Amino acid sequence: MNIRDLIRDIPDFPKPGIVFKDITPLLADSEALVHCADQLARLCPTDIKVDKVIGIEARGFILGGMIAQRLDAGFIPVRKKGKLPSKVNSKRYGLEYGEDVLEIHKDAIKAGEHILIHDDVLATGGTAQAVCELVEELGGIVVQCNFIMELNFLKGREKLETKVASLLNY
Ligand code: AMP
Repeated sequence: MNIRDLIRDIPDFPKPGIVFKDITPLLADSEALVHCADQLARLCPTDIKVDKVIGIEARGFILGGMIAQRLDAGFIPVRKKGKLPSKVNSKRYGLEYGEDVLEIHKDAIKAGEHILIHDDVLATGGTAQAVCELVEELGGIVVQCNFIMELNFLKGREKLETKVASLLNY
């Protein structure tokens, strides 16, 4: 199955000069969606039991939940500032197109738990790195960051001090 054909380039979104990788055609294709979740789950380390999968708001929630189900793991949402209802830890981070704050519930992770982080796109790596730091501050161990796709020219992989896996490279 060629999932690359289901990822659409939207030039100059959300800012001039950014080519936005739109996964909505992939999400709308039931076969491609299941294939993607199966492949991402297969890329996860097999020698360690993943306790919880983190999905990064918002596009990381969709496949993150599907991967968690395949790994028999729990799911943790990491959300933008002000969205989570209970006590949170926060982290400011840089984006390919701006700056933002991500939050995780303080009780989302127990010390020593093995955590897999999922998002749709790895660009500069600032987002995933911020989430790695949130996990580590709560005593979790990041076993992998996985993505549908990686924008190689932005070298996000070099910023991350953990295993990285992705289905597509651009
Ligand atoms: P970064 O922190 O630079 O690795 O950016 C990754 C985050 O921004 C992910 O949550 C992506 O969904 C989003 N993102 C960054 N660049 C793009 C892009 N060109 N197309 C779609 N999403 C992007």
